[in-house]
Amino acid sequence: MPQLTVTGLFMGAHKRYETDAYARTLDTVVVRAFEDSGRHCVVLEDSILYPEGGGQPSDRGRIGSANVLDIAKGRDGDKHIVDRALEPGPVSVALDWVRRFDHMQQHTGQHLLTAVAHGSFGWATTAFHLGPELCDIELDAPQITPQQRHDLEEAVMGEIMAARSVTASWVSLEEYKTLNVRSRGLPDGHQGDVRLIEIKDMDVNTCGGTHLASTSELECVKLIGAEPAPGGSRLIFVFGKRVRARLDAHEQRNHALRTILGRPDEGLVAAVEKHISLEKELERSLRSADEELAALYAKTFTAENKTFLTHHFENKDATFLQKVVRQLLDAASDRLVFLTAEKDGGAFFSLAAGNTCGADVPRLGREVAAILNGKGGGSGRQFQGKFTDLGKLAEARAILDTAVKG
Ligand SMILES: [Zn+2]
Repeated sequence: MPQLTVTGLFMGAHKRYETDAYARTLDTVVVRAFEDSGRHCVVLEDSILYPEGGGQPSDRGRIGSANVLDIAKGRDGDKHIVDRALEPGPVSVALDWVRRFDHMQQHTGQHLLTAVAHGSFGWATTAFHLGPELCDIELDAPQITPQQRHDLEEAVMGEIMAARSVTASWVSLEEYKTLNVRSRGLPDGHQGDVRLIEIKDMDVNTCGGTHLASTSELECVKLIGAEPAPGGSRLIFVFGKRVRARLDAHEQRNHALRTILGRPDEGLVAAVEKHISLEKELERSLRSADEELAALYAKTFTAENKTFLTHHFENKDATFLQKVVRQLLDAASDRLVFLTAEKDGGAFFSLAAGNTCGADVPRLGREVAAILNGKGGGSGRQFQGKFTDLGKLAEARAILDTAVKG
């Protein structure tokens, strides 16, 4: 198992996760157990569980029989929030190694990426974010071109293959001030020694996180993209296992697309573009056919010698009803029109009266909506809405028919 080399003083004051990032189990002691805002908390004498800090999320794992839900850094010791009450005393701690190793790859990768971006391009890193799927750094670069991204990725790959050792050490605050160390500054009120992370012959940086022992353990890098960010550019990346996981997801997606579209990888984009263009063309044809159909219905209804016109359409929506109503009232201004339709599990109604029809549309609309167990709205001569009770259509029609005759 690779070990971090620790050359600092006062080793006893450091937590195990600071001196050995590869320790997966530890026998230690629960020194305090308490409740905080209804949550069970413990403080340990020593720990292999890293609390949140420096852009690296907190670890998960088990303390005795309890699962660790979160960890907060504290002056009186890291506060571990657990899913059940624990008693003070000896306890075994186990680390969720899969999650931690992923964090070590992304976090150590960020150190290397930042160092190469600065060394080769003169770009300083101003922020780091380690997300559940993607990571990013913000650089003080006005923009990053695809060629620069490619060159940076190649340079980082070179340093991964160079298998540079990554080591942690501690120096006193006085000594630290004499060193030329790349740092985003120590936390306010920092006391005691300063922890340094060195990528051999390349970079020294202040950091409290957990790191790989060699850049070779980064496996590989993929710089996914760059976008503008306040004060510079955001560079999106993944290292190691995340590169392979993303490639696997891309391959599975491509396989599914090849099966659906019946094209090889290089023909997928063109095939999707063709389908989208075809879909738009069909929508246009359908809209035009609907207009013609609405006109035809309006003509047929107008020819009927009735003051109350009603019809139910299958597989049509509210927009279609509006088209028919508009054309119908243009042609026959003395009618009361009540049209209903159903499509994709929804039912719609439209009640409208022509200019010379005396029906009180808003009042009748509310009445009809209540009978059909629906709701709607309108003003003046039109009222439309949705409803659920198709079985009550005859009842609603009867009321309207009576109203218009009365
Ligand atoms: Zn670090």
